[in-house]
Amino acid sequence: MAIRKSPIRTCISCRARYDQTDLYRFSLDGTNVKVDQDMRGNGRGAYVCSNSKCLTLAMNSDRLDRALKASISGESKKQLITFILDS
Ligand SMILES: [Zn+2]
Repeated sequence: MAIRKSPIRTCISCRARYDQTDLYRFSLDGTNVKVDQDMRGNGRGAYVCSNSKCLTLAMNSDRLDRALKASISGESKKQLITFILDS
């Protein structure tokens, strides 16, 4: 009797804990950041919940940078917001 459990992750903006499938996962792709839609990205990931406030906060602060231990350009963050809001 297998119980399928997905991991619990913390939103980098509100620090609330969610099932991983309820969060957006961001990961580094070289020097760019991408939305890791299939959750299979290797390495460090940062999670943000689907609350648009959290998304905006994550992109308008250095939270994402700190979570990924990288320096992410404002342009790259803008593209992430656009990508998510359009999808
Ligand atoms: Zn959140």
